[in-house]
Amino acid sequence: MSDEVVNVVENLKITEQKIQEACDKSGRDRKDVTLIAVSKTKPVSLLMEAYNAGIREFGENKVQELVDKYEQMPKDIHWHMIGHLQRNKVKYIVDKAALIHGVDSFELAREISKQAVKKNCTANILIEINIGDEETKFGVPYDKATELVDKIIGLPNVAVHGLMCIAPNVENPEDNRQFFAKMRQKAVDINSLNGHNIHMGVLSMGMTGDFQVAVEEGATMVRVGTGIFGVRNYSI
Ligand SMILES: *Cc1c(COP(=O)(O)O)cnc(C)c1O
Repeated sequence: MSDEVVNVVENLKITEQKIQEACDKSGRDRKDVTLIAVSKTKPVSLLMEAYNAGIREFGENKVQELVDKYEQMPKDIHWHMIGHLQRNKVKYIVDKAALIHGVDSFELAREISKQAVKKNCTANILIEINIGDEETKFGVPYDKATELVDKIIGLPNVAVHGLMCIAPNVENPEDNRQFFAKMRQKAVDINSLNGHNIHMGVLSMGMTGDFQVAVEEGATMVRVGTGIFGVRNYSI
């Protein structure tokens, strides 16, 4: 198989235009939407092309890969842990990830808290909701999210910044609009808990296939992989 030639700079330009369009359409300020370049499986050389084009937010879904790239790349990058995090691996990234997106159980939150106390840092987390109620996906059920956040209020060195979801894989992104709208509503509900370590400012939702709809529905972080770095090859 021949290597696909990827024009990261051009792809970023197109992605940026699409974000701007979605902001214009919904009356939002572009500054309120953070683009996370999802670089999983991609080589550091390609990530550096995005870095040189101004990207400072990168998303990875594997602990080892995040740590490797963290060590190889410039230190002004914010690394987003967007994958499912096993409890026994929390200690490797708690002081490296700017934001841990996929927290979906109290046990995981408690481990993050414990390791953050040890490393004398504050761990910034998002609660992942299984918004499409899909068996194949991680995330807390929609109706259990408030209860989970309520328990986390008591944990030291952890700050909940909002919610994250991976919406269903659909042909027509409009099909996910309902889910993005439900996410925004849940963030409003949870914010009314008024926990000292709860600030529901972040809605991490939208990927290559549906990020424009997500922005229109209030996403403050979109996670775009394929749209920037091209298709991923998992066979190598
Ligand atoms: C891989 C991944 C993305 C990016 O997906 P694309 O469809 O390539 O944009 C976003 N979020 C999560 C959690 C991912 O694992």
